[in-house]
Amino acid sequence: MDLRTAVERANRELGENADTFKLLERARELVIGDRVAWADPLPVGHPGTKIVLDEVLAERLRQEQLRAAGKFLWTCADPTKPNSEKLAVLSEEFGEVAREVTELVIARDKFDARGSAVEVFNTLHGKAMANLRKELIQVAAVAVAWAEALKP
Ligand SMILES: [Mg+2]
Repeated sequence: MDLRTAVERANRELGENADTFKLLERARELVIGDRVAWADPLPVGHPGTKIVLDEVLAERLRQEQLRAAGKFLWTCADPTKPNSEKLAVLSEEFGEVAREVTELVIARDKFDARGSAVEVFNTLHGKAMANLRKELIQVAAVAVAWAEALKP
């Protein structure tokens, strides 16, 4: 269930005068409930896992394309580069995940402050969730590149 639908449903369930925090909590439950139903159980080859792993692979290839194009001189797959520098790269990507989570908190707080500004919340929240997903894929791709440089 997408967030907009969840907020509308929570609004119907709790009524127009519902406390904003309770409304958001209910909407969150509806969204998460949907995700749990989608993801549970998690057999090998679960479609969601494959989709994400394909995206990590695409991101990994993009990194090498950027290196080839000269945007940066090496990737974490380079076995000659020190782990300390690779840790800095991974930390930078991890920091971007933190930034997107902060954007989600800001979106929630703005929604709280404006009460009925569902459109504002959906716009900010949707953008931040998409960015969060992208950054998590980048974290994974950097970790994959780094692991490639290490012997199995
Ligand atoms: Mg990033």
